[in-house]
Amino acid sequence: MLAINGGKPIIKDRNEAKFNWPVVDKEVEDAVLKQLHKTTSIYDRSGVIKEFEDDFKNYHDVEFGLLTNSGTNALYSIFVGADLKEGDEVICPVYTFFATISPIFFTGATPVLCEAQADGNIDPKKIEELITPKTKAVMITHMWGIPCDMDKLVGICKKYDLKLFEDCSHAHGATYKGKLLGTFGDAAAWSLQGPKIITGGEGGIMLTKDRDIYYRALLLGHYNKRCRQEIPDDYSLRKYATTGMGLKLRSHPLAVAMMQVYFSRIDKIHLGKKHTADKFNEAFGKLKGLRIPLMAEGSSPSWYGYVIQYVPEELGELSIEKFVEALHAEGLIEVDLPDSTGPLNELPLFQDPSDLFPSYRGKLSYKSEDFPVAKKFYKNAIKLPVWFTEEDSVVVDNYIKGFEKVIKEHKSLL
Ligand SMILES: *Cc1c(COP(=O)(O)O)cnc(C)c1O
Repeated sequence: MLAINGGKPIIKDRNEAKFNWPVVDKEVEDAVLKQLHKTTSIYDRSGVIKEFEDDFKNYHDVEFGLLTNSGTNALYSIFVGADLKEGDEVICPVYTFFATISPIFFTGATPVLCEAQADGNIDPKKIEELITPKTKAVMITHMWGIPCDMDKLVGICKKYDLKLFEDCSHAHGATYKGKLLGTFGDAAAWSLQGPKIITGGEGGIMLTKDRDIYYRALLLGHYNKRCRQEIPDDYSLRKYATTGMGLKLRSHPLAVAMMQVYFSRIDKIHLGKKHTADKFNEAFGKLKGLRIPLMAEGSSPSWYGYVIQYVPEELGELSIEKFVEALHAEGLIEVDLPDSTGPLNELPLFQDPSDLFPSYRGKLSYKSEDFPVAKKFYKNAIKLPVWFTEEDSVVVDNYIKGFEKVIKEHKSLL
């Protein structure tokens, strides 16, 4: 009998059902303490800041790397770095976390939302229909760590001479046809915040191949010492090195010390997550009412989250809320309906930003029904964490058992 109807739950102890991340082990503690006694503020590109930037950009084989105090500010650095301004348009995924796009409002450029395809990522076919003479760039997010269709996206950006920016905040270590995400476009940003695969609690990083983007990003948020250290004397904006543009977006050395430890384990984390995702795919692929994640050929996702599509028609129209309630009752407490990450056209900021940003009056007027594919994906998305250590195999097996049980006995919920 299902636990929601008074039966025994699959997992009795909440502690055995949790996904704990980040795990603060001895190595993390030692790294942070060591940094704490060294220095907690770094003005130029040196110490732990330089080490992490070097490791991260060398791993990706990209020329410039810039740590920031959040992923949102890494994204902001890209938009200001690329010198976007009023009159410019940036084609953006409608289905992403809003901070992928919201920093654009500080540049004056207009975000133009683009429909998703069945895997939840931006639909390359729809991008071409949105290109105008004002289009300067295409922004993409590799949602939940599943790579976007990079062959098509790179092709479109080349054909129309557009810049390509990647939000890799879900996608640390993921590859497409053997090439790391974040290396396909002109610039990329990663969040290094709380639950992200590489985390310092708060933080972000931008990589770029474009020295203009890099120098302008330095001026945006790293004034004085670092600008004077890095921007060459003959560069046109060097005269602003002391003040920059006036903001400060520097990262905290203690956070970076923490990130360093997790980043040193990236390949191991990636393999462990793949193992779990393969297990989920194998088990959930056989069940009624679920569709396992779709992805473009040649994809090796990061598995930041494992997002399945729920198909109520196959389970007697059982509502997704009731289904998830029954899973929670079985002790599967991490099963999640990811509601804060939904289609942007549902948010007031994208329906009419003008009370916050008056210069946008009349420029954006998205409605709730504008993007049916993204809406459907979001409405039917169920998210699981992707455990990655060997000790986690019991919890993974129990989650699979929980889904099997609820689906087998779903009629008792109707
Ligand atoms: C987390 C996240 C961000 C924002 O990063 P912060 O570090 O929280 O500022 C941006 N985009 C995506 C896709 C994210 O998941």
